[in-house]
Amino acid sequence: MVQLDLEKLNKEYSDKSPEDIVRFVVENIGIEKVALASSLSIEDQVLTDILLKINPKVRVFFLDTGRHFQQTYDLMEETMHRYGFHYEVYAPESKELEQAVSKYGPNFFYESVELRKKCCEIRKVNPLKRVLSTVDAWICGLRREQSLTRQELNIFEWDGLHSIYKINPIVFWSEDRVWEYIKKYNIPYNSLYSKGFRSIGCQPCTRAVRPGEDVRSGRWWWEDPDKKECGLHARVGQV
Ligand code: SF4
Repeated sequence: MVQLDLEKLNKEYSDKSPEDIVRFVVENIGIEKVALASSLSIEDQVLTDILLKINPKVRVFFLDTGRHFQQTYDLMEETMHRYGFHYEVYAPESKELEQAVSKYGPNFFYESVELRKKCCEIRKVNPLKRVLSTVDAWICGLRREQSLTRQELNIFEWDGLHSIYKINPIVFWSEDRVWEYIKKYNIPYNSLYSKGFRSIGCQPCTRAVRPGEDVRSGRWWWEDPDKKECGLHARVGQV
């Protein structure tokens, strides 16, 4: 794996465009060893556009939990047609999921924080581990502004959980800036954003938010806001 000086890069690229950041990553790490994680959010749609314009062969993966909104699957189709590419799709291991649903029932994620985390582990975290074992860096659409748990993120990071680099090219962008890009290039986006949703995950765990509420307050709304993450973006030492 190529060695990156993260401190130096974070200084050097702090005022560079996402295009510059992504180009550096693809050129230095290699097209086969980099992948964009897309949940079809507005942030991921921006990065999909940027990446595919730089190199149409770039890998974009989607974790199909089996519980997404129909609108998310519709957007996936629309995006594939728009750019003429295919997502790498990763699904939960069937045995693991069958056992959990047989034991706890179809909506077991509402039962307790532990069972909610177990569901995220089966449907998201474990499939993520499989895809990340094939790359040296993953690109994400995380932004500092999104939540209390993301305030210290930087552009270039070391992901100690997966032992690979994690790149956040739009980490300093505001939500307005994301929308400006979406509108400027007429990029398809999830129709649920027009119905008050601001962060869209699985259907049973996502709801619309009221004006002024935190962007991610509609995700796992019944849990403590300081702690709620699905585990996809956990750091070493976090619970
Ligand atoms: Fe399960 Fe909800 Fe996590 Fe989706 S977001 S994997 S439905 S707990």
